Amino acid sequence: MSDFVEGWTLGHTLGEGAYGEVKLVINRASGEAVAMKMIDLEKHPDARQNVRKETTIHRMLSNPHIIHYFGQRSEPAMEYIFLEYAAGGELFDRIEPDIGMPIWEAQKYFKQLISAVEYLHSRGVAHRDLKPENLLLDDNDNLKVTDFGMATVYRLNGRERCLDKRCGTLPYMAPEVLDRPYHAEPADIWSCGIILVAMLAGELPWDQPLAECPEYIAWKEGKLTLTPWSKLDNTSLSLAKKVLNHLPSTRFTLKQIKEHHWMLAKYHEDGKLVGSDVVDGNVPKRRCSANGNDVSRFCLSQPEMPGIEINKMDCMNFEQRPGFSFSQPTDVEDLLLCTPLQTTQHTQSASQNTFQKLARRMTRFFVKMDGDNFAKKLLSVLENEGYTCRVSEVGVITVATVDRRKMPLVFKANIVDMDGKILVDFRLSKGCGIEFKRRFVKIKTDLGDFVSKSTVSWPIAIANHDIVSQSC
Ligand code: AMP
Repeated sequence: MSDFVEGWTLGHTLGEGAYGEVKLVINRASGEAVAMKMIDLEKHPDARQNVRKETTIHRMLSNPHIIHYFGQRSEPAMEYIFLEYAAGGELFDRIEPDIGMPIWEAQKYFKQLISAVEYLHSRGVAHRDLKPENLLLDDNDNLKVTDFGMATVYRLNGRERCLDKRCGTLPYMAPEVLDRPYHAEPADIWSCGIILVAMLAGELPWDQPLAECPEYIAWKEGKLTLTPWSKLDNTSLSLAKKVLNHLPSTRFTLKQIKEHHWMLAKYHEDGKLVGSDVVDGNVPKRRCSANGNDVSRFCLSQPEMPGIEINKMDCMNFEQRPGFSFSQPTDVEDLLLCTPLQTTQHTQSASQNTFQKLARRMTRFFVKMDGDNFAKKLLSVLENEGYTCRVSEVGVITVATVDRRKMPLVFKANIVDMDGKILVDFRLSKGCGIEFKRRFVKIKTDLGDFVSKSTVSWPIAIANHDIVSQSC
């Protein structure tokens, strides 16, 4: 690790954006952590203008649910943006593919999202690319909106303008964005509706809101027995219908969303609900396919979970399946984030691994074998699955494919030595977060025999790894 500016040390890579990496930077004296977004202008010469727009908007904003902007540094070939560090990872990481998350958790994040969007709109700013990949979590699990690369000011001095740039990410885009011009507020609200469905059902309802997309047409025609709608309880579905209303003029406003009974209901962590929609011991029931058919048949974009019949899974209640999880870590120490080592250097001393911070990421696990042998197993599983793989000089495996939407999906696997315990850490580089998690689940299942379920004392691991300040 090297000194970035005096007193600040450059840490590990937190993620990858469209124009470059985001790295952790730590103040050696105070332990304060900052995320540094790096924009490589040599690779992306057109990015400077975008950075200027992004930072001009981001620096105007100050809200507990928006990543705080600290500043910027320009160099001839690089731009750096300094942001509040979100230690809790990304929202998509909390979404169990094809299942979602418990309703109380979805409600908490959705309320925070709506509060952030309300603030943005009060400042006349439209985000235009709301999706789980752009929603980070802090160390208290509070949601923070980030990435203002597509944001714009649509209201200035009380005068609103219509927007006509088609931007965003297709599955999250409102239909009117494809059919410009459009009003900023309902378009952002639509994206919130898709995020709501993703959190509750673990899947996206369609590839894009177009007539050619059968899932979208089915929704328009009110076919609610199909997935993902069949996975939602009545109250959630009622809200989704109002938010994903095709007509922007009658779509729910933020005020109406806040007053909806789903938002007002008290969902507790044990899944119990005080209020309406209560069946069987106060647990809100997911709706099942009305005729009991295998709902996976109707879902053109989602696979079955390995070893589980999806119709049975849909009809189960999330809260009634304690511990059911394919992608959540088995042990708390699986959440540790550390510096990747070369696969050939697994004996590197702990003292060299300075400034490791805890960050919560679910896409990692310990393995039962040494790093070099595990790397071979992993590569063989990846190649069997038809992935294109590249191994870097430092042993990081970059995995590339296209997802079912024919969109590029790239992720990285780092094999890390934690004092003799081998941790494998997967991180999305490009593409859909939920799709990445689905692939992670499959790879982890294929490697099942080698995935460790044993525990080590994580405070020891932390102590040995010289963590400067802890956020968890
Ligand atoms: P972006 O360039 O904003 O799309 O960010 C790319 C990725 O970097 C995100 O998906 C996160 O994994 C990570 N990242 C970005 N900003 C932060 C931050 N403030 N704190 C922690 N991780 C971040």
